[in-house]
Amino acid sequence: MENRINVTKSLLPPFEEYIAEIKPMWESHWLTNMGEKHQQLERELSEYLHVSNISLMSNGHMALELALQAMEFEAGGQVITTPFTFASTTHAIIRNNLEPVFCDINPIDFTIDVGKLESLITNKTVAILPVHVYGNICNMKEIERIAGIYGLKVIYDAAHAFGETYQGIGIGNFGDASMFSFHATKVFNTIEGGAVCYKDEAFGLKLYRLKNFGIRNEEVVDGIGANAKMNEFQAAMGICNLCYVEEEIEKRRRVTEYYQERLGDISGLRISAGQRDVKSNYAYFPVVVDEETFGASRDEVCEELKRQGIYARKYFYPLTNSFECYKGRFDDKLTPVALEISRQILTLPLYGELGERELCRICDAILKRRGAVCR
Ligand SMILES: *Cc1c(COP(=O)(O)O)cnc(C)c1O
Repeated sequence: MENRINVTKSLLPPFEEYIAEIKPMWESHWLTNMGEKHQQLERELSEYLHVSNISLMSNGHMALELALQAMEFEAGGQVITTPFTFASTTHAIIRNNLEPVFCDINPIDFTIDVGKLESLITNKTVAILPVHVYGNICNMKEIERIAGIYGLKVIYDAAHAFGETYQGIGIGNFGDASMFSFHATKVFNTIEGGAVCYKDEAFGLKLYRLKNFGIRNEEVVDGIGANAKMNEFQAAMGICNLCYVEEEIEKRRRVTEYYQERLGDISGLRISAGQRDVKSNYAYFPVVVDEETFGASRDEVCEELKRQGIYARKYFYPLTNSFECYKGRFDDKLTPVALEISRQILTLPLYGELGERELCRICDAILKRRGAVCR
């Protein structure tokens, strides 16, 4: 079989550059606890993301969990979110003793359907937690307008939206807080890692303490914190990768354009268009497969790709409100659009180094039944 193609390939700097970046640690023996690299990466990221406040974390999930904790909502408060997301979003709410209330998504860009948002608000609602799915930016104006009326906090899951801007403004500046993930599979990685960008300085101080066991000083522990500190090796990887992320995003744009050209006009396949006013990071390439029109189901396309050593992902499937661990607790029929899309969606391999020959192989495999071959 020809070489395997995975859904993504983690961005890595040249080996020597990483070695040079971590070398000083063999002199300082300072490996974690907000060391020099941690501070340097925080400075560089706040510049790159055009944000004034950022707190680095060990991973994106802990960033989200602690951002929710630092809001200090009363237990049992309701958080309006969507089920068309990664496990992390829903788990973070539930692990904070809060209750997710699932809003459906819109079928165009798969973000929260703002038309259905207001009807879900009750006197227990404390926050809205929307997701910038695949880097598609939510309707933030409407979300924040509604949140303003009802006095709700807004926390964005921006795990997919690294480096994006809306009307020229860094995406981490919207809402009360935004979470980014720097996991190995994301556009920008620190191996594992994440961050919270936020508005309020007092909130930032709470976050800072919560990621270090709630320690205020040597003798006072006044928060029930966790351990979510980004270590120096992670930060060093981030410093190195940040030099290459622009180039990576540019290469991803070319891959995306190739897909758009080959798959854009195929009946039964729907690909997303770019969004107005958004500088994209080309994080994912989702395709919606309509079985009837296309002549094959999403699962059949996925299987055919697998047979040819190509690993696309059913991302997001299943919905988080139909997870085994939440059995009997939620009803996925209340989010019919999300349910339908989750059964039709496939995200194709996408990373900077994906070459034309591989792209051709992938598209041919998808279009196999139509006898399509590379132009
Ligand atoms: C990756 C991801 C997370 C979690 O980030 P980790 O860094 O893997 O912990 C949360 N939400 C979404 C939508 C993600 O894709």
